[in-house]
Amino acid sequence: MQVIRTIAELRPALEDRREISLVPTMGNLHAGHLSLVRIARERGGTVVASVFVNRLQFAPHEDFAHYPRTLEHDCELLAAGGCDIVFVPTEQEIYPEAQSFTVQAPADLADVLEGQVRPGFFTGVCTVVLKLFNIVRPAAAVFGKKDYQQLLVIRKMVRQLALPIDVLAADIIRDAGGLALSSRNGYLNDSQRAEAAQLHAALRALAEKVRSGRTDWPRLEAQAVEFLSARGWQPDYVAIRGRAGLEAPIPGAALVALGAARLGATRLIDNVEV
Ligand code: AMP
Repeated sequence: MQVIRTIAELRPALEDRREISLVPTMGNLHAGHLSLVRIARERGGTVVASVFVNRLQFAPHEDFAHYPRTLEHDCELLAAGGCDIVFVPTEQEIYPEAQSFTVQAPADLADVLEGQVRPGFFTGVCTVVLKLFNIVRPAAAVFGKKDYQQLLVIRKMVRQLALPIDVLAADIIRDAGGLALSSRNGYLNDSQRAEAAQLHAALRALAEKVRSGRTDWPRLEAQAVEFLSARGWQPDYVAIRGRAGLEAPIPGAALVALGAARLGATRLIDNVEV
């Protein structure tokens, strides 16, 4: 596996490669990320992973400075997982000048849920993802359903900007207790770690009620929020939405239950398709 740090080195390394599949990450890799690499590998062709902690998608009060950076271990995992090239640009490489051109995602999709709690988040995500697409020029890119709203935003960007890229979605990888793997799980202490699976439990119970035919969605959302609050969480939202575009639910549509909540100082997100 080649570790490449600059665009100037990456371009010739990719010149003769066909069917490149890109797996964008912020590093501190775990089995969730590796499942994306596996999906990329299954396409055949060249697998490129990127590791870049994107300052543009962090608000000033968020954890950019403390975000776990474990490049050596990441490279070992990627090499073992069959990645061909890992692109590890510096901030200077991606943002050599202030990034004043940005990609504005549509408000109906990007200013709700995560975007409401984290204003500007999807602008930061779309801008760096479009840059990575232009740098790597992949035929396909793999994103996890763990970040469900992000996946929908990227799909819409690719569609509306006519980017010649297949967006592939990877299922959420969880630990034995149901907790979705996340780099931020590393912030949890032992007792928080034991509690953390309850976010998934709440969403699963909610999804089960919807599946059984209940349509009193606001009440079900409120119950899940109360359940988490009573256990010491600070929920940002629990929401039942349409899977196509996070639209308000209608009976019979494909739905997803999404949630975000803080446990102590750690913010976790998860979702369960109904
Ligand atoms: P991140 O490094 O957190 O930016 O995540 C990089 C990619 O990995 C994103 O597309 C995430 O949705 C995906 N991802 C993160 N955690 C998981 C997980 N537990 N299961 C599946 N995909 C994941």
